[in-house]
Amino acid sequence: MWLKIVQAGEPVLREKAKDLSKEEILSSPIQDLIANMQETLRQIQGVGLAAPQVGVSVRLAIIEDRAEYHKLWRSDQLSARQRKEVPCQVIINPKITKREGEASFFEGCLSVPVMGIVKRALTVTVECLNEKGEPQIIHATGWYARILQHEIDHLDGILNIDKTDIKTVTTMENFNRFWKDKS
Ligand code: ZN
Repeated sequence: MWLKIVQAGEPVLREKAKDLSKEEILSSPIQDLIANMQETLRQIQGVGLAAPQVGVSVRLAIIEDRAEYHKLWRSDQLSARQRKEVPCQVIINPKITKREGEASFFEGCLSVPVMGIVKRALTVTVECLNEKGEPQIIHATGWYARILQHEIDHLDGILNIDKTDIKTVTTMENFNRFWKDKS
């Protein structure tokens, strides 16, 4: 089932979302939520979706960066972003335990109508649970690390625009028109 993605201004996007217990993770409402979020993310061809974006204030997000999405970008753009395929992954109660380096790129959000340049750590280590409630440690770099940081921010009520260099804000249309091909 496709879920409605709420837009900036909805109070749920500014709440600190709640942790999930292993029992809650294995419950059918949360398992259904995960399946519906995966279906929704693929339908809109996004790379990440956090539960607050579908109106549910729990610390859960899904990430998937499919190779077919990369066809919209040149190979030098993909390598500058260190963007590689990421298989579908569920992160629950995530904590960033290590951050290294930094990288600045234009970044969008399915809940925000504008884009802008956001500086983030280049590499992160994330400790979380998966969809079975099992502990995971993720070491991520490049675009994968950016997606993780973006989605984890959503669980704390933080949007990418909070971290955007305000002078770089652009509509999606003007991003594609003027900025997408710039380094
Ligand atoms: Zn977002």
